[in-house]
Amino acid sequence: MRRRQFSRTAGTLLALVLTATGAVAAGGGAASAAARTVYYDASRAGEFRTNFDQAATIWNSSVSNVRLVARTPGNITIYVDTGWPRAQTTSLGNGRVWMGTQAVDQGYDRTRIATHEIGHILGLPDNRTGLCTDLMSGSSAPVSCRNATPSSAEASRVNALFAGSLTAPAGVSYVWRGDGAPASVAVGS
Ligand SMILES: [Zn+2]
Repeated sequence: MRRRQFSRTAGTLLALVLTATGAVAAGGGAASAAARTVYYDASRAGEFRTNFDQAATIWNSSVSNVRLVARTPGNITIYVDTGWPRAQTTSLGNGRVWMGTQAVDQGYDRTRIATHEIGHILGLPDNRTGLCTDLMSGSSAPVSCRNATPSSAEASRVNALFAGSLTAPAGVSYVWRGDGAPASVAVGS
């Protein structure tokens, strides 16, 4: 008697759960607003791994439509070499990043470089404004610039890209500063 009553209650609960689940699935349109997860693989980044973990934390606190999570393998694979820092995109949220020690040796901030290069994979191009407040100004800002946080305009653009209201350029390579290319040209010289 008790047992039968219990199973009837359990059956009612199960039906309620199924109904609730069905209701959620039917209204799936609203669920598309959830953040997309982009995995980054910093397992090859050696001493720079902490900088990429910081970069992920900064992006996660700046944008709502994409979430960076460490995993091997990842959508973003991070390498270290002695060249310039650079990024190669394949599609939005996918690509490769190099922490080039040439910029680190010149004194550029490691976390700013890491956050900037991930910004490329999140769909942002270089924007050499010379302003330290812009993350994507990269090497056009002074070497002393330690800002690793995207501006509100940069964060909005990433949110719009991951919401699908903007289209990111795919298959692009960006270099922190190319060999032989001046960081900036003095006006009037
Ligand atoms: Zn760049």
